[in-house]
Amino acid sequence: MERIILHIDVNSAFLSWSALKLLEEGYSKDIRNEISVIAGNPKKRHGVIVAASIPAKKMGIKPPINLYEARKKYNDLIVVTPDYEYYYKKSKELIDYLKSLFTDIQQYSIDECFIDYTSFKKLYGNEVDFAYKLKDEIYKRFKFTVNIGIGNNKLCAKMASDFEKPNKVHTLYYYEFKDKVWNMDISNLFMAGKASCKKLRELNINTIGELANSDLNMLIRNLKSQGKLLYEYANGIDDSPLDIDRYDERKGIGFSRTLEYDMENVEEIYKYLYDFSKKISEKLREKSVYANTLVITIRNSSFKTYNHQQKFFNGINLTDDIYQKSKDLFIQTWDKEPIRLIGLRVTDFTDSNSFQLSIFDENIKEKEDEKIQNIIDKINKDYGKEVINKGNKLI
Ligand SMILES: [Mg+2]
Repeated sequence: MERIILHIDVNSAFLSWSALKLLEEGYSKDIRNEISVIAGNPKKRHGVIVAASIPAKKMGIKPPINLYEARKKYNDLIVVTPDYEYYYKKSKELIDYLKSLFTDIQQYSIDECFIDYTSFKKLYGNEVDFAYKLKDEIYKRFKFTVNIGIGNNKLCAKMASDFEKPNKVHTLYYYEFKDKVWNMDISNLFMAGKASCKKLRELNINTIGELANSDLNMLIRNLKSQGKLLYEYANGIDDSPLDIDRYDERKGIGFSRTLEYDMENVEEIYKYLYDFSKKISEKLREKSVYANTLVITIRNSSFKTYNHQQKFFNGINLTDDIYQKSKDLFIQTWDKEPIRLIGLRVTDFTDSNSFQLSIFDENIKEKEDEKIQNIIDKINKDYGKEVINKGNKLI
């Protein structure tokens, strides 16, 4: 059976979410209907615009131009600074809602996710009809619009959701790929970055169709593994499964996040590692198991992904232990290139943490730590949210 994958993408997510926040705070205008932009933290993006309203885009004000250039086009531009905490809240609301409808969801970024619809067709019916209903339901519940792309794999679903915005449903099935995509400029191909496009143009390859019909060996010679990937994508080929965070004996327990911008600041990365450690340790304790292997995943801005793992004699399940070990592992692994994705996973579960192998005194301390952590877990659970934390929490 052909797979059916949906890709849901919030339209101008940061701008839409900031618009909602401002309306909640009593601001009289809906900035989605004004010439407005969200401009990143100047320290991180040097005043670069990260999102623009449709009216702003119509005036040629589009990311990633900076504020200075944008103001030259329209001086009375409304500029709003991003509120990432609020964005995460909105993102979580949407994902939680989708999780109530589906089992297999891969959150791809703060405002995008993939859903495997294949086995849900029986339950929810034709995917196109369903996508229209889902899109409208999301608007009704959350007051922001999404695009939904439908395809037979993640690549096609993602490209489909990008066709025409906002508030649209598009399909890109295998049989439509050639007609809908091959005439497009190569820059529209998923994963074809600036550097790759430049090389391809030098090889006189300008459209996705031209790329699809190029000689694979020649592409590999010129663009290495990226050449093979782009060739497959230009032909609509992508067999990658959804990457899902969930408890799985084989895969372990893990979390990963695609970052909104390429990060180089170690302290920022540690915040993610702390967050992952906390979530992992909660799950481990929920299942009453210990993990004996920790795996870190880093994808850098050149899309190179690498994993590094460490095994322990004594299983771990406390936030602090996982966090400290993940920081060490991160430092050993990181090649100092800007980071696009960070992930942390534990595997090799045991029912006890093999006390006989450790020094007696340390055992007592671990037992104590564990007791405290269990009490904290219980209080947090009873109050339904995080009300208590050990003193060394970073974020
Ligand atoms: Mg989006």
